[in-house]
Amino acid sequence: MIKFCSLFSGSSGNSIFVGTEDTKILIDAGLSGKKVAEALDSIGEDPTRLSAIFITHEHSDHIGGVGILSRRYNIPIYANKKTWDAIGKSLGKLSEDNKKTIEGDVLFTDMRVRGFSTSHDAADPLGYSFFHDGKKVTVATDTGVITDTVRQNVLDSDVVLLESNHDIDMLKNGRYPYYLKKRILGDHGHLSNDTAADFLVELIENGTERIFLGHLSEENNTPDIAFDTACGKLKENGINPKCDVNLKVASRYYASEAVTLK
Ligand SMILES: [Zn+2]
Ligand SMILES: [Zn+2]
Repeated sequence: MIKFCSLFSGSSGNSIFVGTEDTKILIDAGLSGKKVAEALDSIGEDPTRLSAIFITHEHSDHIGGVGILSRRYNIPIYANKKTWDAIGKSLGKLSEDNKKTIEGDVLFTDMRVRGFSTSHDAADPLGYSFFHDGKKVTVATDTGVITDTVRQNVLDSDVVLLESNHDIDMLKNGRYPYYLKKRILGDHGHLSNDTAADFLVELIENGTERIFLGHLSEENNTPDIAFDTACGKLKENGINPKCDVNLKVASRYYASEAVTLK
């Protein structure tokens, strides 16, 4: 069994749960420790039983609650070397035993975790795939473009959470300052609804059946616009968004419906 649930998703804070019988993992904790613990509770998971927190990158919408959760529940934190360097002391005092540096795949008794590079303006940002019993679940957010590395790692997943950050016109016509628009639209920024939708077609044609769109901008997107952009693109490509795929937008403020694969 592998269970997947987006607890919070968006520019205001991100946290995702992936669990098997023995291994319970959080990817990022960008809201307060209290909120993350409450969200876990709401999906029937016990924060004291977490095996690890994996960090994608050092931006605050991904690490805001990591330090407190690690201290309160004695949870090991995994990040790569450059991300640890960039985090510095911003998680507060951590037990040295709980600071784990990722070098290659990380093995748990019944799960394997693989990090892969994304294209984002952080020290060494990662997406993650989780493997258990022939199933693969992948999280890919905070990437300006779909690089070959991202593509190879996301393809063939049973469940994907993919960034669908902004509507390009809303961003271009919106009130963000020029430098920020340029950053978000750049190759090391965030994935637009259009780019996400194109990639969805590829994923579904390769057999992915459950997809969450996530990390939506609060300013330059809405759940309806992200969903409709994806559905439009799927229909153009002969895919029926109601039958051929289970497509949802991950909620910003509360835990989305959990997916359990047997
Ligand atoms: Zn970021
Ligand atoms: Zn982010």
